[in-house]
Amino acid sequence: MKKIPAVTPTIPDVNIKVTFPKECDIGVSYCRMLLHDTLLNDDGFRTGISDTPLCSCGVEKESVEHVLLRCQKYTEARQLMFDN
Ligand SMILES: [Zn+2]
Repeated sequence: MKKIPAVTPTIPDVNIKVTFPKECDIGVSYCRMLLHDTLLNDDGFRTGISDTPLCSCGVEKESVEHVLLRCQKYTEARQLMFDN
């Protein structure tokens, strides 16, 4: 029988206690954001699936932080989330 090597996942040091949501799809998205393994251009450019790391707004790289906190394309959705 073929042996399967042990795998120890490495999660970047986020300096906070991480609590994962109970919903599987949200938990998977959360892990992908923590591991910089998203379909956003910054991650895609690093892995070769995007031609540019920039956001289509043209202001900066399309990173998780940019999309969640600063991108002008999502200002209305961000405000709606914070208000509810
Ligand atoms: Zn943007």
